[in-house]
Amino acid sequence: MENTGALNTELFETDDEIASLINDDLERQNSHIHLIASENFASKAVMQASGSILTNKYSEGFPGKRYYEGCETVDEIEQLAIDRACKLFEADHANVQPHSGSSANMAVYLNLLEAGDTVMGMALDQGGHLTHGSPVNFSGRIYNFVGYGLDQDTELIDMDKVKQLAEETKPKLLIAGYSSYSQNLDYAAFREIADSVGAYFMVDAAHFIGLVAGKAVENPMKYADVVTATTHKALRGPRGGIILSTEEFAKGVDKNIFPGAQGGALNNQIAAKAVCFKEALSTEFQDYTKQILKNASALSDSFINEGLRVVSGGTANHIVLVDTGSVDEELTGKDAGTLLNDMGITLNRNAIPFDKRSPFVTSGIRMGTPATTTCGMKEEELTKVGNLISEILKNRSDENKLNELKSEVSNLASQFQPYV
Ligand SMILES: *Cc1c(COP(=O)(O)O)cnc(C)c1O
Repeated sequence: MENTGALNTELFETDDEIASLINDDLERQNSHIHLIASENFASKAVMQASGSILTNKYSEGFPGKRYYEGCETVDEIEQLAIDRACKLFEADHANVQPHSGSSANMAVYLNLLEAGDTVMGMALDQGGHLTHGSPVNFSGRIYNFVGYGLDQDTELIDMDKVKQLAEETKPKLLIAGYSSYSQNLDYAAFREIADSVGAYFMVDAAHFIGLVAGKAVENPMKYADVVTATTHKALRGPRGGIILSTEEFAKGVDKNIFPGAQGGALNNQIAAKAVCFKEALSTEFQDYTKQILKNASALSDSFINEGLRVVSGGTANHIVLVDTGSVDEELTGKDAGTLLNDMGITLNRNAIPFDKRSPFVTSGIRMGTPATTTCGMKEEELTKVGNLISEILKNRSDENKLNELKSEVSNLASQFQPYV
């Protein structure tokens, strides 16, 4: 479908400052190569539902059990979203109301835990998320999080250590899931460990739920009590969250989203989630997610061929993490990220396992291929992107060379724009 990203004239008439700033970002989105692993480009259909008149309706509660009148239509919309999500993820139950991945996690914690309870999740500096126990996040302030991590040599999750730590700390909840880990998770082993210490097992699939939807990776719902996710990352839907669960946890999940963690549902976002689930049920979407994986492998191989060090030895998903110290010792993730953004390639600095630098500086860059794949890039282009990044970092003091590389980036980006 045609997707120009262009605004209607109403916004310019009401507020030309915001309208022109949105256009500035449209220009940025159309002129850069986008490698932020958690970003994507939603379809025009998704954005139309998200920007629709449904933003006007209040609907605290759930379909058929609302605290407001006039919910007949939004009931049908939310039910469609729920039914499609259950089909897509082969889940007994879906709650499509979470405003974000973080609120989805909050509701699950409220459901399964009391303040002070012990939870085990992936340590933040090894690939976990803020909501897995960061001291500045509600999770770390309310619950007692214990972090597991990677083996220093293989940079893979050390399941023996996870087991040992679980036996020592007896968590009430075990979480599998990450924001920057490039390998698959051994759900069966996590489940076994959770069972052996009497813990609930949750998978935070925020980053890779799109790959699950496209059947490019295993479905964690086969093993977990609860799966939380976002809808705006690899899944390519509107900003928001979702919680999937077995029947056993259905009531508890719902009650802890509303009234537990949130007020009224965002009906425009729920409609957009329904559209995104419909798109994700297609065979085209399955092809798309397989291409995401092929593109990530091509990007990773390209770095390895350039002599750069890829963390964990490569990728099995959509994420590629590069050790900037392999370009040279002095190069930080922060400096690499800033330079690459100036050159037209957007990604983010990221701690590497056992990083000696602070989280604000880091020694790594994280990349993902969902967005470039949406723009139509294939292995050939991702190989080229890996070459360009390597060349830029290696030649960062050579202004003439950088100017040359910048026009190569701009030329490639112009052939794969998200909005044309
Ligand atoms: C992105 C992410 C979240 C949170 O999503 P938001 O919508 O930004 O709140 C939670 N968990 C993991 C693992 C994530 O990657």
